[in-house]
Amino acid sequence: MTEFIRVWKEFDIKDVSGHLLMVGDLTGDCSSCRHLGIDYSQAKTCPGCGAEFKYIATRTRDTRRIKTKRPDLIFIDFEDYKKASGKLRARDLLS
Ligand SMILES: [Zn+2]
Repeated sequence: MTEFIRVWKEFDIKDVSGHLLMVGDLTGDCSSCRHLGIDYSQAKTCPGCGAEFKYIATRTRDTRRIKTKRPDLIFIDFEDYKKASGKLRARDLLS
């Protein structure tokens, strides 16, 4: 039996947000240009801005199904990403 255990790793948040596919209930969004309705089981690049997807995150609990569909992408935790990108935005506002 296997289960998921999250690994802590440092990422360049700007790189992540430029190449992240965010998966909702049925479709995915591009975190770079906010393009909606992307087929997350297939898309290699964003149909809106052409960004190449390297990372995937989901707001749903359906991690295993999504992970199985996209073994080519690095699966990151959506809450972790939200926290990190919020910090980056706050810093950008101050500078
Ligand atoms: Zn895009």
